[in-house]
Amino acid sequence: MEDKRILDRVKFEDYLSVYFDVRPASFFTMVAELPNARELGAKIDLECKDDLALIMSTRDIQLRGELIIELRKKIDELFKKYVLESDVFKAHEYWAKKLGLRMEMDKVRPSICEVYLFKDKNVGKRLKNLFYIRREIRRAIYQMQNISLPPSLLAYPEELSSKFVSELGSILGYPECCVKRYAEERASGIYVEGRISEQIKNLRMAGDKPNVFSFFSSNFIPHDPKCEKAAELGIKLYEALRKHIPGAHQKYYVILEENVSTAENFPEVIKSYRQFAESRLRDLLMHT
Ligand SMILES: [Zn+2]
Repeated sequence: MEDKRILDRVKFEDYLSVYFDVRPASFFTMVAELPNARELGAKIDLECKDDLALIMSTRDIQLRGELIIELRKKIDELFKKYVLESDVFKAHEYWAKKLGLRMEMDKVRPSICEVYLFKDKNVGKRLKNLFYIRREIRRAIYQMQNISLPPSLLAYPEELSSKFVSELGSILGYPECCVKRYAEERASGIYVEGRISEQIKNLRMAGDKPNVFSFFSSNFIPHDPKCEKAAELGIKLYEALRKHIPGAHQKYYVILEENVSTAENFPEVIKSYRQFAESRLRDLLMHT
């Protein structure tokens, strides 16, 4: 609990939920869920700003394509140098080993890596198979001409596949009711983040409130803000923490409340993040 190189949220939701057998597997995202994410992101951005400006000002499509491939390679190398070889990442490897957890990673974009934690070897096999399927789906989608998808689905087209979403949900131990609804909504273009936000707001208007335990992980969206199956997982982790680690359950409860608040304000959170990213891009380009 003292090690500041891992976020409390990641300790509870990812490491300890698997360690205490609440879920068979969990994942967090690098660099976003590292304590020095801003600093690392800025470092990588800075080293790529000239390449980015060149791409933005290149009109020739073929040349532009080649420049993009080169930039991806460069980001890959910077990711290795600044993230995978960092003390912060070493802390993750150390604690995974110490807690008897296996680790499997998948790069979903040049600068975004998902890190999965689990105990059982078979989970690792299922994950590797899933990573393979994800690559195949992406390849198929990118080869289609004139495809019109919202940006979020162009970035993560595998979310259109109900089979992919269901298998991942099952590996992560998410309740079936929630996975089913999420998969159906994603495949039919429904904005899931908007749906959960509206459900919470409607509950409050009716004088009711969500069950914080249903929001056991920040990577998860329950089918309903009072889903009992989801709440069982949150309660199980909360109780395990209370029994084994003094003071940890109170900290976890604060995180649960934060998860509810994020879900309630999803549309606003996403909008302000987009504005931040856009202004950051403008800054980078302007100073080149
Ligand atoms: Zn549910």
